[in-house]
Amino acid sequence: MTEQMYAWCQDLWRLPRSITGQGTAETLDYLAQLIPGLEIRAIPSGTEAFGWTVPQEWNVTDAYIETLDGKRLIDWRENNLHVVGYSEPISKIMSRDDLEPHLHTCHTDPEAIPYLTSYYKSRWGFCLSQKQKDALGHGPLAVHINSKLSDGWLRYGELIVPGETSQEILLSTYICHPSMANDNLSGIVVTTALARWLLQMPNRRYTYRILFLPETIGAICYLSQHLEEMQKNTVAGFVLSCCGDRMNWTYLSSREENTLADKVAMHALGGKSWDYIDFSQRGSDERQWCLAGLPVCLVMRSGFGGYPEYHTSRDDLTVISQRGLEESLELHQEMICMLESNYKYKTTLPCEPFLSQYGLYPDDPVSVRSVPDIIKVLGECDGKTDLIDLCRNTGVSSSSAIHILSQLLDRGLIVRVE
Ligand code: ZN
Repeated sequence: MTEQMYAWCQDLWRLPRSITGQGTAETLDYLAQLIPGLEIRAIPSGTEAFGWTVPQEWNVTDAYIETLDGKRLIDWRENNLHVVGYSEPISKIMSRDDLEPHLHTCHTDPEAIPYLTSYYKSRWGFCLSQKQKDALGHGPLAVHINSKLSDGWLRYGELIVPGETSQEILLSTYICHPSMANDNLSGIVVTTALARWLLQMPNRRYTYRILFLPETIGAICYLSQHLEEMQKNTVAGFVLSCCGDRMNWTYLSSREENTLADKVAMHALGGKSWDYIDFSQRGSDERQWCLAGLPVCLVMRSGFGGYPEYHTSRDDLTVISQRGLEESLELHQEMICMLESNYKYKTTLPCEPFLSQYGLYPDDPVSVRSVPDIIKVLGECDGKTDLIDLCRNTGVSSSSAIHILSQLLDRGLIVRVE
């Protein structure tokens, strides 16, 4: 299956996403065309969840700063980061001094536009590069934000992919960030590709709960409606964020640090170059999932805050690549395949089997090289060692181990231990 994840990022790039509003609704509509069965759900403004309240829906149709003779100096149509998320409407001629507190720049990069929001405090503002700010002149300037805050909906996408058991793997990503590629179009498209792949997977062991949520408020609202079942069923979970660049891998542990999710993540990262971030530096919806007691961690590339383009207009489509997205997809697929096969196994004979009799001792000199791996795998089938530990103990790759175990199972040489 060739996934055109980068092309999906290009399609979604310009939509003005936020925690609510049409840009997010259009993003979900786009994803629903790619993911059969994705349900788009909506929670009304004013809904309470654990002390939080779903805010009004926010929509922008235009925003700009212009000279009094009509020359646009800052234009939201050119970059939707220019408006502070959830800005109130304004239409006013202002002196440069009065405008100053409403202008936000990036201190580290004079050409970058920062990403700012103000979901729960009424204000308005423009984000711009220091260069653009310097070019505003002395004023006065005409300032317009055509935004609307009204009762509406917080929308999210949910896909439940059923498996043989009610035990669940949680995959979540956030859809509230406007035009930034690594954070988090990358997470959205890799989760989409994973969902499509899981829908095609035969004989799934686990049920998969796949969520496309506005960060924080979306996860909190979702928990308020699904807490008990998630606590009861979730065996492992991953938040997908910042997974499209090709820098060092970054692993952010769950609060417990030693859950099944952490164990499989660390194994999948074995042999790769990666950085560790502990739970105190959490940044996305693992904040909510882990506080609810769910075993959730992250495997990112650069990781939030860990790359200079983070939360600025520099995080554009040049930061990510199709290959970078594919590597993250492959790593999450590997983790899922390991979880699906992560049983303990026990040999059925009291000695090594006569492999030739079972077609497992090939004559040709190339295939015969797999025999030592078969012997290594058999040695770990003691009824106590699970697949992840088996791979760690033997150095056999997860894909080889899974293949060997299925051959041994087929021939009755091992059994699964529940
Ligand atoms: Zn972010």
